[in-house]
Amino acid sequence: MTTTTPDWRALAGSVSYPTGLLIDGTWEAGSARHEVVSPIDGQVVTDVAFADAADVDRAVASARAAFADRRWAGMAPADRKDVLVRWAHLVNEHAEQLAVLTALEMGKPAREAKAIDVRACHRTLRWYGEAIDKVLDEIPKVPDTSWALIEREPAGVVGAITPWNFPLTLETWKIAPALAVGCSVVLKPAELSPLTALYVAQLGLEAGLPEGVLNVVNGGGATAGAALAGHMDVDIITFTGSTATGRAIMTAAAQSNMKRPYLELGGKGANIVFPDADLDKAAAAAAWAVTYNAGQMCTAGSRLVVHESVKDDVLAKVLDAMAGLQPDNPLNDDAPIGAIASARQLDTVHGIVTEGLADGGRLLVGGAPVLTETGGSYYPPTVVDELRPESLLAQKEVFGPVLSVLTFSSDEEAVTIGNATNYGLASAVWTNDLGRARRTSKGLQMGTVWVNCYEEGDLTVPFGGVKQSGFGSDKSLHAMDKFTNLKTTWIELA
Ligand code: NAD
Repeated sequence: MTTTTPDWRALAGSVSYPTGLLIDGTWEAGSARHEVVSPIDGQVVTDVAFADAADVDRAVASARAAFADRRWAGMAPADRKDVLVRWAHLVNEHAEQLAVLTALEMGKPAREAKAIDVRACHRTLRWYGEAIDKVLDEIPKVPDTSWALIEREPAGVVGAITPWNFPLTLETWKIAPALAVGCSVVLKPAELSPLTALYVAQLGLEAGLPEGVLNVVNGGGATAGAALAGHMDVDIITFTGSTATGRAIMTAAAQSNMKRPYLELGGKGANIVFPDADLDKAAAAAAWAVTYNAGQMCTAGSRLVVHESVKDDVLAKVLDAMAGLQPDNPLNDDAPIGAIASARQLDTVHGIVTEGLADGGRLLVGGAPVLTETGGSYYPPTVVDELRPESLLAQKEVFGPVLSVLTFSSDEEAVTIGNATNYGLASAVWTNDLGRARRTSKGLQMGTVWVNCYEEGDLTVPFGGVKQSGFGSDKSLHAMDKFTNLKTTWIELA
């Protein structure tokens, strides 16, 4: 990766990428095409092939054939490792192309896409690649007359359905562990972010992935996505997206071949701030946690749950920090935050804010689209105070830069409010009292609790939710287990 500031606009005009369906190692034009509209300015970037159910069928058949003849699963683990590590390096070499495509298709700052998304894609491929020949199976203690093996076998064909908010990161969190254990994959990226997926898949072929091992079928959720989720020859379906779609996928899995579903769904994260915390740090993090990626994060810190004694102080600091986190063209290298991913998503965000305000609360800042003259989709940091835990804005996932403010007066109430949504993905606790940090984090029903930080972690730790935020974590060695079946072989020796 270069360290000089790239000319993102020039790169946006010159970058080239595949636009077809990737089936059985071949790029196909597809029978239907779909326009990719940039949220930067509302202009059409290109069009891509969109799969129908028959295309998905062919992609699954290709993945099945690749799995059945063991061209990938049967390769020596160290050789599979070499392919994934080579692929990771290619991602690094193409970091700026991937970053600018991310900005064009879903509107996050290109600078940020390079620093975060491309880096995550690179590291994830490398981490799972390097893990392949270091994970062991088991030999249990059984009578001397017998010998037993517990082996993790690749589960077969994996369908992966992903969202647009961190396209490169979330796709790789699924593809890399699935491929590492020897599965074949059919990826259905989000409608809004088809280009990065195609570009990364092309690099995978260049790195030596055998044909058919990774197939990419862009397409509509209700068509291509539903066809994959309900397919009779897909063994595992791994999904990141909304809770509503997760429910549909789980139903489709149950009603077809009972494939195993893994669901990473929505969230309503809280920053819980106690009076003894470093309030400057907590407030800066609270402002960042709901504006980063324009708030389009399942882990967005969309609730500020603050002790009543420090509320005014913390809120003033949050508003101050937010003043410097305004949206701008994602191709400007210094854009603090970028665009909302689509005009439709902008309408959704603004609609929830309008509906929420009608349900109570006091608007302190923001509350309407900005930069409308650009033709793009931009929403400013928005803060709504005086909410109750049951208020619409304290309950509903907005997926935009919208902070709901709630107060508490006791440690118990902080935990109660923290848990008072259907979600259970992630939240943060801000306190300098270790006992309080531990008690509160134990009390929170969340897949992840951060203490005195937000959004920290790396590939070594799992990421996933509880309650209606889903199940089946991404990341860490545990993610490899999702794509394997436990096989017992019992041998009678006597
Ligand atoms: P979405 O559910 O609308 O779409 C996600 C994917 O599902 C897309 O690829 C879409 O085409 C597909 N899809 C839609 N309907 C389908 C159907 N009936 N059958 C099969 N596939 C279908 O979500 P989105 O708007 O793309 O993303 C935003 C949502 O994702 C938010 O709710 C957010 O919280 C969630 N999310 C969760 C995590 C996490 O790890 N927990 C991470 C990022 C985003």
